[in-house]
Amino acid sequence: RFITLEGSEGVGKSTNVAFVRDLLQEQGIRVVVTREPGGTPRAEAIRGLLLDPDETEPLDDLGELLLVFAARAQHLAEVIRPALARGDWVVCDRFTDATFAYQGTARGGNSARIEQLEGLVQQGLQPDLTLLLDMPVTAARERLRARGAAPDRFEQEGARFFERVRDGYRQRATRAPERFAVIDAARPLAEVQSGIRQVLEERLAQ
Ligand code: C5P
Repeated sequence: RFITLEGSEGVGKSTNVAFVRDLLQEQGIRVVVTREPGGTPRAEAIRGLLLDPDETEPLDDLGELLLVFAARAQHLAEVIRPALARGDWVVCDRFTDATFAYQGTARGGNSARIEQLEGLVQQGLQPDLTLLLDMPVTAARERLRARGAAPDRFEQEGARFFERVRDGYRQRATRAPERFAVIDAARPLAEVQSGIRQVLEERLAQ
């Protein structure tokens, strides 16, 4: 099975990726944990190109989109498809829904173009379950601030950018309710995690 976790910054994605991994491993499931953009050395190098804070040359929108999908093609070939073929489960921190939310809704990219690349690169492969950690942008920002993670991107992009990211994700979830589970991530962690546990039990019962 292929599980993805999605959400804007500060919603607790990393913590809950580890939680999902632990839950599955407790059941004796072999789990590969990975992330996007990245997940292989070459794909991580592409991530570096996408996120380099010292790079001043503006990133062309189509260039950005192609880099995201170039990293994804590599990641699928080297990590995700082989793991699924072995029968392992894959838990991935962000996948193509992030492309629709960031490069699409938030940056104003053409979603038909993203769909074309999705078809080309994924050849029909979709996650079996996508956990969307959703919470108000201002609260997420406070969390980042509280843990001392410099909310650089918040300052750089502005809160409205992250509102659009959130909207983009929520629209994706509305369009594919059978694949998505929307988790209210503003609650205390224990409640968020019992919500996740319940979703996994309900949706992934063998
Ligand atoms: O949270 P994570 O470490 O996965 O995200 C790294 C950064 O990449 C975030 O700041 C996120 O906004 C950005 N990103 C992006 N486009 C994507 C995926 C992530 O701009 N498709």
